[in-house]
Amino acid sequence: MKDIKKLGINSTCVHVGEVEDTQFKGAVSPIYMSTSYAFDNVPIKRYPRYYNTPNQEMLCKKIAALEKTEAGLIFSSGMAAISSAMLTFLKKGDHVIVQQVIYGGTYNFIVSEFDKYGIYYSFTTSDKIEDFRPLIKKNTKVIYIETPSNPLLGITDMKAIGALAKEHQITTMIDNTFASPINQNPAEFGIDIILHSATKYMGGHSDISAGAIAASEQHIAEIWKTAINFGGNLSDQTVWLLERSLKTLNLRVKEQTKNALFIAEYLENHSDIDRVYYPGLKSHPQHTIAKKQMNGFGAMLSFELKEGIDAMVFQNYLTLIKPSMSLAGLESTTVSPTQTTHALLTETQRLERGIKEGLIRFSVGIEEPEDLIADLEQAIVKAKK
Ligand SMILES: *Cc1c(COP(=O)(O)O)cnc(C)c1O
Repeated sequence: MKDIKKLGINSTCVHVGEVEDTQFKGAVSPIYMSTSYAFDNVPIKRYPRYYNTPNQEMLCKKIAALEKTEAGLIFSSGMAAISSAMLTFLKKGDHVIVQQVIYGGTYNFIVSEFDKYGIYYSFTTSDKIEDFRPLIKKNTKVIYIETPSNPLLGITDMKAIGALAKEHQITTMIDNTFASPINQNPAEFGIDIILHSATKYMGGHSDISAGAIAASEQHIAEIWKTAINFGGNLSDQTVWLLERSLKTLNLRVKEQTKNALFIAEYLENHSDIDRVYYPGLKSHPQHTIAKKQMNGFGAMLSFELKEGIDAMVFQNYLTLIKPSMSLAGLESTTVSPTQTTHALLTETQRLERGIKEGLIRFSVGIEEPEDLIADLEQAIVKAKK
């Protein structure tokens, strides 16, 4: 293959990391299900939990190419990737600075597991760079961010975080799930470790559980040493499905992103909607930062229904858009954070985080935006009655 760095994004999605079918010359990667390989006198033998079966090894190259890093690694879930990465770079006595608003599962992992390992953590009070700096201590080893964040699509300045961390020899990690590698490549802004729930945009069809990490060869080698002990590798059957999904990553995410901007602009001018949260809108407080670091503004948005329109009633009237817990599939889905992801918090805690009763998180799919808007409209009309 020609120099993969010179390939266009769709060519990268389709061709980088294919497993060549040398035996039959088939058009797609064969699946190697073997858990046992000849000894062959190589330093590391092939074995599923060593993350190096033919399908795993090749798909890692596609992940790296998409994130423009030297290397990649794939896991059985986003949390397997996130936990393996964190516990590689944090040991007893270390300290990690974590952005206040992060994915709920990551938050739970930190607050319920880190005490057991003697790892200290501090949460910032916002996604602003000024709130990270004062938290740096002598033993701070990692800064962990997520941008855009869930559910209010806050934006963290990656370049500023990268520079601050380098000054103090701190490793930076980002959860890049919401943007996907199509809309944002954190390595270009000095972020070290890029994490993905591949269950979301990378899988894209709401039928795969997987995770991914992209980073330098050296960082991936370190993570690998820890990851083989935790054993969160992905089955080769699913590796193959993920490879298939990634072939259309750019086509899907581009279309979804285009739809999201169209719908965000429409909802912003709607008399029954109080507020729209989308980094692509000029009204978004960090729109300028988003413009600097994102190729597109993503396909996730949130909006607040006007008082008097019940979030659950509204969602029950939707016919095309599915109320659903997960996100990033090619079908559009909504969720009411108050009732689901943030249900365990008190109302005061929710309001502190800016999450109001009428907030709806909208994962925009590939359906025609006119159809999506028509569905939202009729549900608003019915929910108002
Ligand atoms: C879903 C999700 C995760 C966790 O991924 P799993 O594949 O469910 O383990 C992490 N971060 C973000 C932003 C997510 O949306």
